[in-house]
Amino acid sequence: MSVTLNEAQAHRSWRAIKRRKSRQIKIGNVLVGGDAPISVQSMTNTLTSDAKATIEQIRVMVDAGADIVRCSCPDEASTAAMKEIVREAGVPVVADIHFHYKRAIEAAEAGAACLRINPGNIGSDDRVKEVIKAAKDHGCAIRIGVNAGSLEQHLLEKYGEPCPDAMVASAMYHAKILEDNDFTNFKISVKASDVALTIAAYRALAAACDYPLHLGITEAGGLRTGTVKSAVGLGMLLSEGIGDTLRVSLSAGVDEEVKVGYEILKSLGLRSRGVTIISCPTCARRNYDVIKTVEALEKRVAHITTPMTVSVIGCIVNGVGEAMHTDIGFTGGGKGTHQVYIGGVADHRFHGEGEAIVDHLAELIEKKAAELEAMKKAS
Ligand code: SF4
Repeated sequence: MSVTLNEAQAHRSWRAIKRRKSRQIKIGNVLVGGDAPISVQSMTNTLTSDAKATIEQIRVMVDAGADIVRCSCPDEASTAAMKEIVREAGVPVVADIHFHYKRAIEAAEAGAACLRINPGNIGSDDRVKEVIKAAKDHGCAIRIGVNAGSLEQHLLEKYGEPCPDAMVASAMYHAKILEDNDFTNFKISVKASDVALTIAAYRALAAACDYPLHLGITEAGGLRTGTVKSAVGLGMLLSEGIGDTLRVSLSAGVDEEVKVGYEILKSLGLRSRGVTIISCPTCARRNYDVIKTVEALEKRVAHITTPMTVSVIGCIVNGVGEAMHTDIGFTGGGKGTHQVYIGGVADHRFHGEGEAIVDHLAELIEKKAAELEAMKKAS
């Protein structure tokens, strides 16, 4: 078998998402837009001026799969630390700037791959030109980041409240400033904490331009609320082909943001990474403790990045059907005798309970990952 079952399924026509045709830009060595994979981003919450702490946090993000990371640069001490951060990050670093044009120039000089800055908020034309020159000189992209909570006063007066039209007008206002300065190496976001507003704004923006779009539901909340809001909002947009890169905003660990971002993309077949466990909620028919098994197994295989699917199902009602479409299947059987499937085919029976099931599955998953990696290298 040259591809995993999950990869084979990804090619079904009913699954294919037709992505919006966006122009492609480069954030460091990561392509964003066009047919590039949808990249996953996160943002540090350390003091950027503390390079050591920031680099440590970036490592956590990168281990979780972050393609791009962002650091706030509110002061000169932060941009001074950026040089070391950029050097050690291992992925492109975006400098988050608000208003201070000098911080933008310093960040570009320090090697930031992208500036998150709205040119209309920098001040005079001369300042705008200086920032754009620094971005051009240092191969730095820009993200225009429109947020429903901080729209320009003249747009609030015109539209009366934050609304999709006002957000798109703001985005296009900033975009025009960059275009007028012969700068098109930028992407745009139009985020709101309200899911419906975010969706409507991105849909309108997607229709109004071909710039790559950075998706996000801003201030989405804690782990559960933020995950659900992001999954609904970003999921709807991504399923319509809108979105070239994303950040899930959570009041939770930075690695959680990355993991949730991947799960959203994986659920739509837009990216693949690591072990995807398909498990049932269990009921009176279960033949072993599925919930505890899945909890333990998720932790045991969290380090594996090879894409594969594993079904962990309590009984034959759904166990056989799910096992047919996963790389490894485990279906509970009576009297502690469970059926194991490999590549959709019944392979062997396993006798055991509790930790023994976790150990057995972890072993099978490690073996499968090694096989898949070897096949990838050989091809
Ligand atoms: Fe219950 Fe079996 Fe369905 Fe799991 S697969 S929920 S154990 S009937």
